[in-house]
Amino acid sequence: MYTHFKEINELISRSEKIILTTHVVPDGDAIGSVMAFAGYLKQKGKNPVIINHSETPDNLKFLDKKNIIRVFSKDRLKNEKLISEAEVIFLLDTNEYSRTKSMEEFLINSPAQKVCIDHHMGLKPRQFNFVITNTVYPATCQILYEFIKDDDEKYFTKEVASALYTGIMTDTGSFRHPRTSSDVFMVCAELINDGADPVKLYDEIFANVTKENLKLTARFLDGLQFHSDNKIVTGTVTKEDFRSTGLDIDHVEGFTSLIMNIKGIKIGIILVELKDNIKISFRSKGNIPVNKLAAEFNGGGHKNAAGANIKGYSVKELRKLILEKSEKYLEN
Ligand code: 5GP
Ligand code: MN
Repeated sequence: MYTHFKEINELISRSEKIILTTHVVPDGDAIGSVMAFAGYLKQKGKNPVIINHSETPDNLKFLDKKNIIRVFSKDRLKNEKLISEAEVIFLLDTNEYSRTKSMEEFLINSPAQKVCIDHHMGLKPRQFNFVITNTVYPATCQILYEFIKDDDEKYFTKEVASALYTGIMTDTGSFRHPRTSSDVFMVCAELINDGADPVKLYDEIFANVTKENLKLTARFLDGLQFHSDNKIVTGTVTKEDFRSTGLDIDHVEGFTSLIMNIKGIKIGIILVELKDNIKISFRSKGNIPVNKLAAEFNGGGHKNAAGANIKGYSVKELRKLILEKSEKYLEN
């Protein structure tokens, strides 16, 4: 952590034009963060505007019932103006402007004060005027919980608590990933007391599998390849898989946990073929630093969960190349 909560509180108090944003392909922690923080700011009499590069995934839309999240490409000129006239911009759940894709240059060029609140590694603090970061926390929403609590617990309305709970539940993989500390449960217990419903929230987010989802999953499982004595598994999702099921990348999220549940697996790699690049997800068990493997492909992330985006290869070529570089990480 670099900035004291109080400094950011003072910044909020003296600012009116406040923008919140998060990363491309937003997950539960990303949408939970912007919605919880917006709910908090509203109670403080502010009128924050959320602008994201991506549409909100269907299973997270329940957090934004009033549909307040603006998508940058829709009504783009207005969104550019909002960013260029902002006094404060909060970048939540990422510390890289590039992960806001089409918004990157507008955020960087805006004269606004820039605040980053995030839990990822690899922060370059000089890009921001204020930074709150803690890579020990499993979710940005846990940092926001502390921030809001430090101000006043009265701001934990049912909506705010539900958004924060969503971020923590999803980024901990439903309370089973390595950073699931006892503190996580203490925080979630309080959020449940404040109105977050763990059963309803789980069902909203996860209990919505369709026939098409199952078909995409079947194609994915059918294409899994095992390597290095079954310690490494690679899987792919191709444009053809998306075309034949009518689904998109939003429906691939659960695949990493599927392959990491395979008995004895150490490294799991998924390649997703998109319109003009291939998105790679790396996962590992124990002490294997897949963020270093991801860095070999210009990506990054955490020790056990990392990613990269690559252009100029076919899925087959890239799979072979990644595999060649993966095997040495098994020795850790
Ligand atoms: P996922 O596989 O869930 O998309 O990403 C896992 C983690 O890897 C993310 O939380 C993020 O930290 C990191 N990550 C994913 N894609 C990229 C990327 O293109 N570049 C970098 N630097 N990190 C990424
Ligand atoms: Mn997160």
